Amino acid sequence: MGDWYRDFANSGLGSTLVRQLGLPRPAVLRRYEPGAPLLPGPAVVGTAGEGRLHGVLTRVLQDAGVPVLPAVDGDGERLAAVLLDATGGTSPADLAAAHAFLAPALRRLGPSGRVLVLGDPPSAAGSPTQAAARQALEGLVRSVAKELRDGATANLLLVPAGAEAAVPGPVRFFLSGRSAYVDGQVVPLTAADVPAGEHEQRPLAGEVAVVTGAARGIGAAIARALSRDGAHVVAVDVPAAGDKLAEVANEIGGTAFQLDITAPDAGQRLVAHLRERHGGVDVVVHNAGITRDKLLVNMDAARWSSVMAVNLQAQLDTTQALLDADGLLGSGARVICVSSQSGIAGNRGQTNYAASKAGVIGMVRAWAPAFAERGATINAVAPGFIVTEMTASMPLGTREIGSRVNSLQQGGLPVDVAETIAWLSQPSAAGVNGQVVRVCGQSFLGA
Ligand code: NAD
Repeated sequence: MGDWYRDFANSGLGSTLVRQLGLPRPAVLRRYEPGAPLLPGPAVVGTAGEGRLHGVLTRVLQDAGVPVLPAVDGDGERLAAVLLDATGGTSPADLAAAHAFLAPALRRLGPSGRVLVLGDPPSAAGSPTQAAARQALEGLVRSVAKELRDGATANLLLVPAGAEAAVPGPVRFFLSGRSAYVDGQVVPLTAADVPAGEHEQRPLAGEVAVVTGAARGIGAAIARALSRDGAHVVAVDVPAAGDKLAEVANEIGGTAFQLDITAPDAGQRLVAHLRERHGGVDVVVHNAGITRDKLLVNMDAARWSSVMAVNLQAQLDTTQALLDADGLLGSGARVICVSSQSGIAGNRGQTNYAASKAGVIGMVRAWAPAFAERGATINAVAPGFIVTEMTASMPLGTREIGSRVNSLQQGGLPVDVAETIAWLSQPSAAGVNGQVVRVCGQSFLGA
């Protein structure tokens, strides 16, 4: 299931050929390795505005041992990251400072480099002029992401006043290899209590995590990532997938729990299992999902309802059952729901699937305030083209087009979705709530 074209384009003969023919040259992406430095080289931090977050950014870098440059001009060492604090701008004219800082810095950005911009939320602006300046950052960052090459990404964090404590966790995620396939995204933060002293390599130590659909594919990758980060994983899948489920659970020292999540008593059975075996649960990942594709005009009722039942209704019912079970879902709990790019952009032949995945986004947004009240969060992750057994069986042409139409010119891996979910599970992701994080390499399909 490797990427033959990426490997060819990065080989001696291949790289010459693709350059001469003007073909895309997908990079080998920098991915997270426990124990590896946050960044493989120096970073530069600039401001375009009042610089409210400059100190926070510098501290995150220094704490991680990253050399920080105040500015760059002309040639010099390749940069691993370019950070811009653009908070406090009042008019579009202030963006000239962003341009002046970014242009020389981006010329020196190295492979798999990171551009991270922090701005104020346009929704909280005091005037149309201020809102215009804030919203303009989105167009700037999304375009930079499309201009970058060599596996580099650009993303924007929106930080309202008072949410400074929520900044370090997301900044570390976007600089690290965990965010390899998250590109061109805008993630709004909210003010939240962030517990101090998170363990760098085992941030989920002592926690219990449930992952549905964990027998294979993305779910198995999520189970592995959460276990690596310290959680005891309860791996859930249908009885028919029991053997593979047991393999995954054994591999990570977790528990296999055979359950069809669409069964009428599924929520109650899960609650009883968690109460008896673990006493509670800290992380819940609703990953199980199915496709039953057909054009709407040819779709029978069974195709429609089976997809809605697994992908949406089960997420609603299980989450409600966990919330109703007194004291089971800890304060600080994390619920992460797997949506899809199809739920944002729509997809031909997938009316049922796209409706279910868009429904997940609506659910997450509506539940977020109630989760915030109990110190918990609920978010969605929307994967784009992810290389799995399913995509490997597509015809070559469809697969090649599907995997190349994004800024990173390649499909993502299950581990990329897993790393994003593992990040959202962390205590330091407390300021991300009710959001949809796309893991799509800035796919050109949809917003
Ligand atoms: P997959 O088919 O490889 O794995 C899905 C797992 O869910 C299977 O092990 C299956 O047995 C399990 N499952 C299905 N119905 C279940 C039920 N009723 N109860 C319990 N378990 C059940 O799929 P995948 O590619 O790994 O996708 C995982 C998730 O990511 C899905 O929600 C999917 O919609 C989403 N997604 C995948 C892609 C992609 O490119 N692969 C893109 C966008 C979104």
